[in-house]
Amino acid sequence: MNSKTVHHPETSMLLEFSAGTLETAASICVSAHLHFCAHCRDSLLRLDQVGSKLMEDSQAEPVDEALFASVMERIDRLEDGASEPDKYSQVGDYPPSVNKLIEADDNPPLWRRLSGSVDVASLKTGQKKFEVALHRICAGGKTPKHDHGGLEYTVVLKGSFSDERSVYSEGDFILRKPGDTHQPMGAQNGECICLSAQSAPIKLSSPLGFIMNNLLRINPR
Ligand SMILES: [Zn+2]
Repeated sequence: MNSKTVHHPETSMLLEFSAGTLETAASICVSAHLHFCAHCRDSLLRLDQVGSKLMEDSQAEPVDEALFASVMERIDRLEDGASEPDKYSQVGDYPPSVNKLIEADDNPPLWRRLSGSVDVASLKTGQKKFEVALHRICAGGKTPKHDHGGLEYTVVLKGSFSDERSVYSEGDFILRKPGDTHQPMGAQNGECICLSAQSAPIKLSSPLGFIMNNLLRINPR
């Protein structure tokens, strides 16, 4: 899509993504960013070329043909389903990696109210290390100030938001580490929808934190 993104994943993440060793939730976020970012798609292409050269030079491993066939069949099913209209209209139309997650879920996620300005739709990813979800911040909405007990990846899918450090627009990739504190605020000109993966429940640091802490906790699906 557009190539105006200014916040990108680190090269080490792209390297792991290329090698297929990046953790599932992080891969979903990188994949969503790549949908928007031509710069990172170019970097990934170069890394893939280096990787395939290394593979050529190493000895081939035998492939489990039954496993390979079942994986390909699953991918085909997902691709067929993605063309059906309305199946994921309950949450919206997103980059293919996000659409596939929604499409593969027998109970498509629904928006739930988290606070006056924020809704959440949890995504099922088949792993438990990260809670992966879509967050929707209404125009001008403020989320509670919070810090992080673990890693949090965020990709802006629609609109924009800001915090104390910067403004983040469509496609931007943000990594928050343990100890980081911020208070995201939706742009005034429209709602903002983000994909996020949190490795641990966030801790609220505002005076209302003790009430909001439980509300913000996403139920793993
Ligand atoms: Zn990028």
